[in-house]
Amino acid sequence: MIDPMSHDGCALCGEPVEPDYVPPNGADQARCNGRPAHNECMVREALGGIGHLEDHAHWCGQMGDPDGGRTYRESAREVMAWVQRHGTVSEVADAVADRDACSR
Ligand SMILES: [Zn+2]
Repeated sequence: MIDPMSHDGCALCGEPVEPDYVPPNGADQARCNGRPAHNECMVREALGGIGHLEDHAHWCGQMGDPDGGRTYRESAREVMAWVQRHGTVSEVADAVADRDACSR
């Protein structure tokens, strides 16, 4: 059992992992480098930010902001929604492959 109050916040976004936080997919709470993390943030870390997914050339190439003007946490929530909309194996695999070409 993870004690969500025993650390400074999510390992990825830095925001608190609320004591009653329940991952949206019902999975066990994620950990990153031994610290609790939001599951959405783990997905965002793997796939890239919402800006990267929606318009890589603009947000990553021109703006240098793969989170598309959102905070990391906001971007992560939108990435999770994106996966739920586009969540076929091949589309997610394509996004992961694209991620390798994106330095952020
Ligand atoms: Zn987080």
